[in-house]
Amino acid sequence: MGFIKNKLIIIIGSIAILLSAAYIIYSLSTSGLFTSPPPDIPLTVTEEIRLDNLGSAGRLEGNVALVSVFANDNKCSWDFDSEKDRQVRENMLSYIDIAAEWLSVQAEGYGKTLNFCYARDVQSDLYFETSLDVNCMDLQKAVDKSAPVEWEYIDKNIDSAGIKEKYGCESIVYFIFINQTDEGGTAAYALNVYNRSLDYPYEICFLPVNFGSSFTAPSVIAHELLHTFGAPDLYSTDDNYNSVNYGTTLEFKSYCEENMPSDIMMTTNVIVDGESIKLTDCIENEITEITAYYIGWLDTPPPEVDEYGLVHNQFENYNG
Ligand SMILES: [Zn+2]
Repeated sequence: MGFIKNKLIIIIGSIAILLSAAYIIYSLSTSGLFTSPPPDIPLTVTEEIRLDNLGSAGRLEGNVALVSVFANDNKCSWDFDSEKDRQVRENMLSYIDIAAEWLSVQAEGYGKTLNFCYARDVQSDLYFETSLDVNCMDLQKAVDKSAPVEWEYIDKNIDSAGIKEKYGCESIVYFIFINQTDEGGTAAYALNVYNRSLDYPYEICFLPVNFGSSFTAPSVIAHELLHTFGAPDLYSTDDNYNSVNYGTTLEFKSYCEENMPSDIMMTTNVIVDGESIKLTDCIENEITEITAYYIGWLDTPPPEVDEYGLVHNQFENYNG
């Protein structure tokens, strides 16, 4: 009897241990501690872009307003009591001037008339200063296509309708200048409406004073501005980012490197005496036909667009 009792205890004990072990394994497996990260979201390219709203930056022609916001954020701030920061601000305003002038000349080359209205000094009604309780230099905003803090600031503080009326313009681009001076900082980037509509229409260029080992030069302002009007980067591919949606591939990138090495969407640098540098007093890059097509300066896509299976521009099926 004692033998059977012991055996029964062993069996019940074993079952209890097995059940506990199973429970522990189940708990761990559902705890998230040991689950593998979700697989990379596969790239989904919308083959056809149908929009009834191109965002605040619609077509790059006619009159276009550029609003400059010099913003303090969670990481960087401006001190306009200091001579240094006033000088940097003056530089940035003069770089807008150079970029605007250059883009207008490029537009002429494609038979388009383009005039920019922008702040030349701090008295302008296109000049703003603010503090934003957020890290503006966060590339995730471009990936997620979302910048609620910046959008709400613009929505509440900038009379976009009044600006459009006063300057007779259809399009507005918002420049947010961040006094990021550390060389390792986040690069300039644009948050643009391209293949889908967003919560707010405001298209923003985030422009840090310094980034990487580089800085916001006139060519950088022009490059980011062109993104807001639909231009893709030619130096990288859709494979690098999931929300790019141009269908650009490594093959196309190599083609561009070979055939349009100085397009402003390929590089914001120029080679001077064998050295790749950014100019501060002019822009010497080009707007080649690919970029011109994507910003709506050419109605017919250049042959490369279909040869490389790229997505057609946002203007072809525009419903607005
Ligand atoms: Zn870019």
